[in-house]
Amino acid sequence: MSVLSETRFHNEPDAFKYLERIVWPNGVICPHCGVEGGRVYDLAGVRSKPSKKSPEGAIRYGLKKCGECRQQFTAKVGTVFEHARMPLHKMLQAVHLIVSSKKGISSHQLSRILEVQYNTAWFLSHRIREAMRSGDLAPFGGNGTVVEVDETLIGRLKGAPVKRAFHHKMKVLALVDRDSGRARTMVVDNVNTATLLPIVMANIAKETRVMTDEANAYRHLGRHFAEHGFTSHVAGQYVDYNDRTIHTNTVEGYFSIFKRGMKGIYQHCGEQHLHRYLAEYEFRYNNRIANGVDDCQRAVNALAGIVGKRLTYAPSHSE
Ligand SMILES: [Zn+2]
Repeated sequence: MSVLSETRFHNEPDAFKYLERIVWPNGVICPHCGVEGGRVYDLAGVRSKPSKKSPEGAIRYGLKKCGECRQQFTAKVGTVFEHARMPLHKMLQAVHLIVSSKKGISSHQLSRILEVQYNTAWFLSHRIREAMRSGDLAPFGGNGTVVEVDETLIGRLKGAPVKRAFHHKMKVLALVDRDSGRARTMVVDNVNTATLLPIVMANIAKETRVMTDEANAYRHLGRHFAEHGFTSHVAGQYVDYNDRTIHTNTVEGYFSIFKRGMKGIYQHCGEQHLHRYLAEYEFRYNNRIANGVDDCQRAVNALAGIVGKRLTYAPSHSE
């Protein structure tokens, strides 16, 4: 039986119960006055104002009232779901579909599955990506462990003329910590030393063996880290023959999943959204089976990120 047959994906009260367990693992906290363990009442049977769609008013599920400040709220308050006009059980389905599909899922596909309009699906999927963004700033590596670094070019900058070289491409830097199996990715303006070195130094501990290709931007990394190993891809060398731990195959594997997915699913990604797609791939990679995370736990981990994250920008129509 598919996990999507579980009641939280179809039944609104169950969807709220599921979300409440994630938002309030230690008991309800009023989002208005912040009281913990205060008197909170469930408000059953409250309806919203009558509308054309529901002349009797829609039932307001998950509604609670704080006995201290007398204000009403649901578990959605303060999360990326707060202002979404869509049943929670459908949003939970969307989270599950996004975290469990290897390459992601397009807004068109999502709108067909959830039976909502394209714009609704588009905006929802960006809310979910926002929730997947890692706030983890601790440096990778340390203690002689290995971190691989590589950059790639993707898509095309809006309005940029297609010239030689890569000025019209969007640029992404990735670090993969080979020992912990985690990745960290970011959009960068340039792929020269002046841009990349400060980022690499801020994100990798000094006591790390750093692996790159032969690109000029990484030439002096050896001065800043325990070791800098590199291979010459131009010369067709992908693993150092004397020390077979010197290679960037892991980070290149990461990019190949990312690029295949972006090509197949999010072809027209604009630069202003690229960081959210990066967050989505990074999240799935860091929460993959090999790291001990199954599909259901991955959804819980994504939902844990919804607390306190809100999207405030206006939707646009490009993926
Ligand atoms: Zn309160």
